Amino acid sequence: MLLDKFERFASALSRSMRASEVRDLLSVIKRRGDVISLAGGIPDPSLFPKRELAEIARKVIEERGDVALQYGETKGELEARRALVDLMQRWRGFRAGEEDVVITTGSQQGLDLLARTLLDPGDVVITENPTYLAALGAFRAAGAHVVGIRMDSQGMRTDELEAALRRLREEGRKVKFIYVIPVAQNPAGTTMSRDRKRHLLELAEQFDVLVVEDDPYSYLVYDQVDVASLRSMDDGRVLYMSTVSKILSPGLRVGWLVSPEDLSRRFELVKQYLDLHSPTLNQYIVAEAIRSGLIEKVVEKAVPRYKGKRDVMVESLEEEFGEGARFVRPVGGLFVMAYVDEGFDAGKMLGTAVEKYGVAYVPGASFHTDGSGRNSMRLNFSYPSEGQIREGIARLARLVKSSTST
Ligand SMILES: *Cc1c(COP(=O)(O)O)cnc(C)c1O
Repeated sequence: MLLDKFERFASALSRSMRASEVRDLLSVIKRRGDVISLAGGIPDPSLFPKRELAEIARKVIEERGDVALQYGETKGELEARRALVDLMQRWRGFRAGEEDVVITTGSQQGLDLLARTLLDPGDVVITENPTYLAALGAFRAAGAHVVGIRMDSQGMRTDELEAALRRLREEGRKVKFIYVIPVAQNPAGTTMSRDRKRHLLELAEQFDVLVVEDDPYSYLVYDQVDVASLRSMDDGRVLYMSTVSKILSPGLRVGWLVSPEDLSRRFELVKQYLDLHSPTLNQYIVAEAIRSGLIEKVVEKAVPRYKGKRDVMVESLEEEFGEGARFVRPVGGLFVMAYVDEGFDAGKMLGTAVEKYGVAYVPGASFHTDGSGRNSMRLNFSYPSEGQIREGIARLARLVKSSTST
C-alpha cells in the first residue's frame, strides 16, 4: 500500500486506525449495480427539502451575508443557538440556556469534544453494548477503556450497570461518563423505559459520573411511545447532544452539545483549536429552517415514509427468518439489528453476501464492546426502497440458510 511508504512518519494513533470493512466493500457495491445495500446509515435523499433550502440559503446570503459569511463565535452564532434552544424546548421538553449550547460540526465533533475534554488515557467510559461505532472510535482514540452494558427490551440493564460501577470503583478505575442513546438506539433499535432512565440517573448521582445523552432519533419517532429525554429529568449531570443530520441534512454538518455552563466553556476552549467554529452559513440556514417551520415539514413527511419502510423490514424479517432472527422493533431511527443463527459469522460472510447474493449489511461485531455479536447484522431501512428491502431480506435469508446448513 502507498500509505506504508510514510508509515515512519505516522503517529501511533493514526497507525492504530483501520478503514472499516464496509468502506472497502463500497467499491464492489458500486461496480456491481445490482447489489442491494442495507449497509448505509444515511437518510433518503428524496426527503431533502432542496427547493426550500436553496431559497433559505439565497435569502441568508443576500440579506445577512455580512455575518453569515464571516468568522463567527466558537460556540456558535447566538441566533442559531436560540433556535436550537427553542427546538429542544418544543420537542424535548427542557429549556437549555443559550450559553450552555455549543454548536458542533455534526454530532461527531461533539463526541470528539467529549473525548478530548473529559478523558485521560485509562479512564473508563460506560456504554450500551452494542453501541454507536463512531462513538466507540472517538472514546477509544482518546485512550479510554470502554465497558459495555447489555440491553434488553427496556434498554440498558441498569442492574448490570450498578454491578459494573461497583466493581470499577473497587478496582479504583475512574468512570467519567455513561454514554447512552435512549431513543431508537443505534444499532440495537432499543428505546429506554422511564424506570430505566430514572435508575440510570440515580446511579449516576450515587457514583458521581456524568451521563451523555446522544439523541439524534427522538425527532424521528414512528410509534406512540414515551421518549422523555434524560436531560428533561435531570439538569445537573446530563450532557445532551443532537444533530440535524437525520431530520434535515447530514451534509450541513450541524450538531450541538448542551452541558452545564462551566463545562460548555471547556468544550468551547477545546473546539477553538479544532476548527475555530462550525460553518457560520450553515448555522444561519439551520436557524432559519427551525424558525420557518421547515424542519417540522420535513419530519412530517419523513415519519410516514420511514415508518412504512420500517414495517416492511420488520415484516420481511419475520416472514423470511421466522424464529431464526432476533431483533427489537425500533420505534424510530434508521436501523434494525438482527441476530441470527449462532453459527453465522456476519463479518466472514460479508464478501459472499455482496458477491454471490447481491446484498450488503454492516456486520454487528464491531458495534459490540466485548467481541460478541458475530452473528448480528445492522440493517438500514431509510435509504433502500420498500421493494429493495423485501428483496434484500430475502437474499439475506438465503445467505444465512446456505452458510449454516452445512
Ligand atoms: C447518525 C448518528 C449521529 C449523527 O452524527 P453526525 O455527525 O451529526 O452526522 C450521532 N449519533 C448517533 C447515535 C447516530 O446514529
